[in-house]
Amino acid sequence: MTVARPVDIPITDVSAESFVIPTDAPESDGTIAWSSTTMVAVTVAAGGTSGFGYSYCDASAAALCREVLAKVLCGQDCLAIEAAWDRMNRAVRNIGRPGIAACAISAVDIALWDLKAKLLDLPLAALLGPARKEVAVYGSGGFTSYDDSRLAEQLGGWAAQGCRWVKMKVGRDPDSDLARAETAAAAIGDTQLMVDANGAYARKQSLEFAEVYSQLGVCWFEEPVSSDDLAGLRLLRDRGPAGMVIAAGEYGYTPYYFRTMLEAGAVDVLQADATRCGGVTGFLRAAAIADAFQIPLSSHCAPAIHLAPALAAPRLLHMEWFHDHVRIEHMLLEGAPSLSHGLIAPDLSVTGHGLSLRAADAERFAA
Ligand SMILES: [Mg+2]
Repeated sequence: MTVARPVDIPITDVSAESFVIPTDAPESDGTIAWSSTTMVAVTVAAGGTSGFGYSYCDASAAALCREVLAKVLCGQDCLAIEAAWDRMNRAVRNIGRPGIAACAISAVDIALWDLKAKLLDLPLAALLGPARKEVAVYGSGGFTSYDDSRLAEQLGGWAAQGCRWVKMKVGRDPDSDLARAETAAAAIGDTQLMVDANGAYARKQSLEFAEVYSQLGVCWFEEPVSSDDLAGLRLLRDRGPAGMVIAAGEYGYTPYYFRTMLEAGAVDVLQADATRCGGVTGFLRAAAIADAFQIPLSSHCAPAIHLAPALAAPRLLHMEWFHDHVRIEHMLLEGAPSLSHGLIAPDLSVTGHGLSLRAADAERFAA
């Protein structure tokens, strides 16, 4: 038996840039509307190669990567990701860790994991130790800005591609929500319908809507009330219809957020977003916390980046195949996964996570 010699491969550079990509149509949900999405892309160099990571955030996260995180990482061992994670989190203590700083850290952490897998000549999915070979995704879009025909066409399209679930937005105009949900349900056949109110409803209003949606076969009610209202989520969880899951967690930036949400008994399924909660490291933390509470996990947005950690996460229920991010990842990234019979699977012939920015395609969106 050979004993591995200690390895220390210093980080030589951390760079970051941002891209603003217009949506293909106006998009809105229960609480906000948007016409573009910003991707913050990070490259970390060490050992003669580089790793790539990103977050969907504000361009200020790119500046934070360059001006704060690079300073505490350059010269440090790129393989010691836990140490790097700790250094980054300490560096943003007085800036405020949740929010922009956590997104910046997430993008860098993802780049570090990509880099590590490349240096070890392994696909990231293999390095993380997968629990499964593929992941089921649910089609996600159904924006409140869509008319009925676009809503039916998009959700019906995912159903035809084999998705077992599809998700639509509700809550912007409660008077039209039932009719929109009926339109969606009619377009998807046996596929199960999920709704996301993005915190738009009041407590008792959402309880009433839960009953109404349940009659249409809706199986998932996401952020019926604000995810800051843990008691409100708990009310829905305890008093909502049998068979309807209450889900939240997309605004979790730290492990403590997820612990607090689960200690409150607020959700049936925890959501976590690796581009916000600390990258691959933070996502696996969230997965471990969910496992400890015996609660299933679902990844939020950014499907390309979630694939490898989702393969390794215990109790993973499904991943979100979010229209906006799927479109951007296929526009700008080499190696973005494609949907097949409602599933996505990694390309195990490439090292790292297999994703790289196509600079020529991204350049015109540079912020
Ligand atoms: Mg949501």
